[in-house]
Amino acid sequence: MRDQSSIFEAMIEITPYGAAGEVTGSAYLLRFEQTSVLVDFGLFQGDKEDDARNVVPGEIHRNHPHAVLLTHAHLDHCGRLPLLVEGGYRGPIYATDATRDLAELVLMDAAHIQESDYERRKKRAQKQGRKLQRTDLPLFDTSDVEQTLELFSVVEYNTPIDVAPGVTAIYHEAGHMLGSASIEVICSSNGNVCGRVLFSGDLGPPQLPFLRDPEPPSGPFDVVVMESTYGDREHRPLDETMEQFAAILVEAVSSKGKIFIPSFAIGRSQNILYYIAELVRTKRIPRIPIYLDSPMAIKASHLYADHHDLFDEESTELVESGSLRDNLRTVRFTETAEESKALNTKEGPFVVIAGAGMCNAGRILHHLRNNISDPTAHVIITGYQAYGTLGRKLVDGLENVSIMGDYKPVRAQIHTLGGMSAHADKPHLLKWLGSVLTSAPSASTHVVLTHGEDEARDALGESIAEQYSIQTVLPYNGITLELP
Ligand SMILES: [Zn+2]
Repeated sequence: MRDQSSIFEAMIEITPYGAAGEVTGSAYLLRFEQTSVLVDFGLFQGDKEDDARNVVPGEIHRNHPHAVLLTHAHLDHCGRLPLLVEGGYRGPIYATDATRDLAELVLMDAAHIQESDYERRKKRAQKQGRKLQRTDLPLFDTSDVEQTLELFSVVEYNTPIDVAPGVTAIYHEAGHMLGSASIEVICSSNGNVCGRVLFSGDLGPPQLPFLRDPEPPSGPFDVVVMESTYGDREHRPLDETMEQFAAILVEAVSSKGKIFIPSFAIGRSQNILYYIAELVRTKRIPRIPIYLDSPMAIKASHLYADHHDLFDEESTELVESGSLRDNLRTVRFTETAEESKALNTKEGPFVVIAGAGMCNAGRILHHLRNNISDPTAHVIITGYQAYGTLGRKLVDGLENVSIMGDYKPVRAQIHTLGGMSAHADKPHLLKWLGSVLTSAPSASTHVVLTHGEDEARDALGESIAEQYSIQTVLPYNGITLELP
């Protein structure tokens, strides 16, 4: 192990406080001279043990960060910000304007869920005649989120901005979700650059609908901290996925079946609509009624429309020519619960896109309870399904499942579509890193792998060693980076 001071002319320290050896809870504290900056401050997501880790670590409190730099609006990157603010943070939170808008949607939704969970626990405790415990309290509420939103300061892509004494940041397109960024951090002392660090944030694959492809900055960098979610995987090519998607829809239409697509509200729902438009445009499927049955996905779709200036060329053309609107003219937004319930009595064929993405909450549960035993119905799973969720049970082919307390035989046709991920796979991660390294001899750059389980980052690390002759660093939470 080398001493940190030998990596940088002036000491820069980086400590991860989440997403190190796992995929949630992204947070890095960067310290330089008297300055400290927090990059992302996300929620740990998973089971009860993960919930208990959602705190502001003492080290972060003690360092009084001058600024927060936010890569994108997913909850596992921004979800602990209201805790920071509740703990007294009043500095700026730098983000692109789309990230600010989407973070408002994401954090408000999380606060509402926290508040209603709390009410439920309070009622149960009253019934049982016991006192509420600290763990029963909501992590944060809507007023914490409102205070957090006041601290946002909007940044433009590719524009240097002084974020703290001696620290400049530049946001680069990351192609993962609307507004997402890789953040370049430049540390200077008395006008001399002492170190450059690049945080990849989450990286998208090329050709994601609406979004521009990632634009890796060319450095040279002393340190690159990069995600490794799918560092051990290669995604199925999109053309194959589209063929499979078309075939399911055509079959369902011919048997007048109802099609249910569980989906995350932001990103995935809009992408599915885009893919359907593409299948209609290329005449691979007929026009059929489509219901976007998620208030949050509806809001997110409006935000996408508001930020169309961020779209890539292809999507801009589809929007400007009216093609997207025309091919999606059978889409209806079902805002209210009544509109959603009305779908029960409607005859197929039609498509329902509803949350939650892993069938563990939301309106999709009602639809599945009503239709899972119908052999003409189809369920299309397009994303990762965590162990224990209803979605995972359907993917695993269970014959009977419990939905909202009802035990139901699974007779609907369950399909799993790969290839729609918003994360770059191993070949694309390697390519992104290759672009970052082009302007410097690779041996002088330290590559730190985070935001991936150990299996994924080990595999990516091996490939980086083979391809670029760089030994990667795989840190754990709370360990200040000591690069080899
Ligand atoms: Zn993300």
